[in-house]
Amino acid sequence: MSLPGPFTEDFKSTPYWWEAAEPTPVQAPDLPTNIDVAVVGGGYTGLSCALELARQGVKVAVVEAERIGFQASSRNGGMVTGGLKLAQGAMSSQLGQDRAAAILKEAIGTLDFIEMLIEREGIACHFRRTGRFTCAYSRRDYDALAARTDQIAELTGGAAYMLPPSRQREEIGSDHYRGGMVVKASGALHPSLYLRGLATAAARAGATLIDGTRATGFERQANGWRIKTERGDITARDVMVGTNGYTGPATPWLRRRVVPVASFIIATEELPADLTKRLVPNGRMLADTRRVLSYFRLSPDGKRVLWGGRVGTSAMEARKSALRLRAMMCRVWPELADARLTHSWNGNVAFTFDYLPHLGVHNGMHYAMGCQGNGVAMQTWLGYQAALMIAGGKNAPSAFSGLPFPTKPLYNGAPWFLPAVLAWYKLRDSIDRLSS
Ligand SMILES: Cc1cc2nc3c(=O)[nH]c(=O)nc-3n(C[C@H](O)[C@H](O)[C@H](O)COP(=O)(O)OP(=O)(O)OC[C@H]3O[C@@H](n4cnc5c(N)ncnc54)[C@H](O)[C@@H]3O)c2cc1C
Repeated sequence: MSLPGPFTEDFKSTPYWWEAAEPTPVQAPDLPTNIDVAVVGGGYTGLSCALELARQGVKVAVVEAERIGFQASSRNGGMVTGGLKLAQGAMSSQLGQDRAAAILKEAIGTLDFIEMLIEREGIACHFRRTGRFTCAYSRRDYDALAARTDQIAELTGGAAYMLPPSRQREEIGSDHYRGGMVVKASGALHPSLYLRGLATAAARAGATLIDGTRATGFERQANGWRIKTERGDITARDVMVGTNGYTGPATPWLRRRVVPVASFIIATEELPADLTKRLVPNGRMLADTRRVLSYFRLSPDGKRVLWGGRVGTSAMEARKSALRLRAMMCRVWPELADARLTHSWNGNVAFTFDYLPHLGVHNGMHYAMGCQGNGVAMQTWLGYQAALMIAGGKNAPSAFSGLPFPTKPLYNGAPWFLPAVLAWYKLRDSIDRLSS
């Protein structure tokens, strides 16, 4: 049956990325006992942690509730921001200048790190240093970006420069924005091919991957942990939790510290080459400066537009969210009005109350999470850092390690306030646009 609206006959509510690499079940072995480390969560964080631990000869198992990589790590936009978002934040007031500078330096280094890891493990995932164009939604946003270009160029060691509205068509075939900023030190990859490669590398190094097994509780024992799961118990000396936007009741302390926010993406059908070239002339990753942002790019083969944004809660039906994203896309690129959509999907990202990612230990339990929607490189890095800490702390301590991890009174992990916050942010975006 053909679907109404701008959808292809074979429209799917699963990620476009799964056409190349859908997360598949692994041969789940019996649940292990007496292992060194149980890693909870089989996304970039958990797999990166397991990979490094296994490389160091540590006996490690990844325990994943769904299929390995089923959630954000095979659903994201594949933009490798290399810590840019942090460079745009106002951290020094919270943390002091020295710690803020150390965090920035480490965050920027995540781009080199992920590139090295992809090369070392031979992961074919279309990784490319594409650069990024941040589109200013208002004149005020343009000025704010311009004030930071020198700092970003210095931090990233690559060019960062502004394009005024009269030149923005060098980067985006649209007059919708008020100019923007090009940053060279930024990249792109195919998220689920990367995920699959990371899982393969972890297994090759000796990690055990266990899917379809939700951890439901954790008991401290004399020499480690008993991890309760739906399929029985696992005993391990250490536990590392990498559940990010899917952190649930099994870890209530962590759940009170991350806010799951749904993010949505659509994919168009294949478009003529001259059109995609006009829309994104240099193939860079694109995002705008709104508080409720849009992020968009071409698919790795350059044939489709992928458009992402935060348009509702995760329960929203795929065609409904698709129509909302499409309306945004067509405001920027009216020539896509006839382009049909082949895929629409969503996943959860994790925000934190201080807008920083967190890596640490609480009551003996290790954790790494909270990337505010920028976790491709960062969560890979934090998983690696957690592994180094667990394996014996020979590394220089990460600047992210042990930061105070705030929560808010009455917050229990259910973000009832999100619709109101999103509406408020949208209103402020509109006011900014109109008033400058
Ligand atoms: C639509 C979308 C677009 C995005 N775009 C970008 C982008 O362009 N660039 C970027 O850098 N980042 C992006 N992100 C963010 C990025 O995908 C995440 O930061 C990253 O994938 C997080 O990896 P993770 O391993 O921490 O979490 P996840 O990949 O979400 O993995 C967590 C896993 O934990 C499992 N789990 C939860 N509870 C339990 C339990 N009790 N027992 C066992 N397993 C459990 C879940 O099933 C899940 O598989 C995007 C995210 C989304 C959703």
